[in-house]
Amino acid sequence: MIAVIILLSLAPGCSWFKKEKKVSEKNSAAQKPKAVTCPLCGTAVSEASTVKRRPVAVKVENDPKARPQSGLDKACLVYEETTEGGITRFMPIYLCREADHIGPVRSARPADIDIVYPYYALFAHCGGGSPTLRMIEEAGIADLDELAWAGAYWRTHDRRAPHNLYTGTQRLRAAGDIAYPFEGEVSSPFKFLSASGIKKMVRDREKEQKRAQEAAQESATNQYQPLIMVVNQIAIPYSRVCAVRYSYDPATGKFLRFVAGTPHTDLITGRQLAVDTVIVQYVTEGSSGMRDVRGAETPMLGIIGTGRAQVFVLGQLIDANWVKSSREEHTRYLDNSGDEIPIKPGSTWIELVPATKQVSVY
Ligand SMILES: [Zn+2]
Repeated sequence: MIAVIILLSLAPGCSWFKKEKKVSEKNSAAQKPKAVTCPLCGTAVSEASTVKRRPVAVKVENDPKARPQSGLDKACLVYEETTEGGITRFMPIYLCREADHIGPVRSARPADIDIVYPYYALFAHCGGGSPTLRMIEEAGIADLDELAWAGAYWRTHDRRAPHNLYTGTQRLRAAGDIAYPFEGEVSSPFKFLSASGIKKMVRDREKEQKRAQEAAQESATNQYQPLIMVVNQIAIPYSRVCAVRYSYDPATGKFLRFVAGTPHTDLITGRQLAVDTVIVQYVTEGSSGMRDVRGAETPMLGIIGTGRAQVFVLGQLIDANWVKSSREEHTRYLDNSGDEIPIKPGSTWIELVPATKQVSVY
């Protein structure tokens, strides 16, 4: 009799206890704060307020005398654009990480207004042609031109002007947060891969390499049809002194950057720049009606409209079309079915390559 009572009381007791445990697990999952990610690079941030600020965009030069640059490694994304004579300039955009040494800072170009606009970014540069400066003002860009905000910049003594002007995100914010108050959050320019999406792409690349190898061993290479485009190297011939190469490193899943045949390093860390996603966006080069001090024409890059693009992620090439319907909109990179191509969380470099240049992929 006693044994029966114990069994009866134990049985429902056990299941009730289990049920309670389940409920409490559910509650704790619901109470866990939602992970916040940076809209510009898709990486986790610990403080939600970090991504509710204006991003910071800086014009950095790429004249051989400007290398190695500082702070490009801390940016969420970087644009590279051609200027006079095929020399490129960078526009790193910072949101979730601070960079206290960015430069050398140089002047703005006319396409910068269309690049910066949808980011609501504080725009750091050192002057520009007067039509460009007028366009920046008319567009209502949060402008932190060095000519007006000298306190946010400094010059170093180890390099000659104009290759020695530097700034940092905190200095720029100290000026910009007061001059251009901002409430809200920048919309994300990209769709990011999930952890399982990344794993699948890594597996697919390995499988494809094996298929290619087997076809070569069986001397059946003419029957071999690749299912995905495996990429090891990307070469972008902007000009001789600004020739870019990216080399894929399967161990880290990143593309290592080279410039003019040598590793492109950061001045402060000494480390080679490593990029998670490379996007080659083919653009037209029109006439801006402006010339530099040597008389070379400043190209007007056509970045509003549509065109061809190539998205390089996890050692694969995905053919794409780019679309930017207006100055206010982000550029979207779509696959052949019209779907946005998800990229790897981390740093993205967008290469605005003149459509006349031949990019090699191998
Ligand atoms: Zn970020």
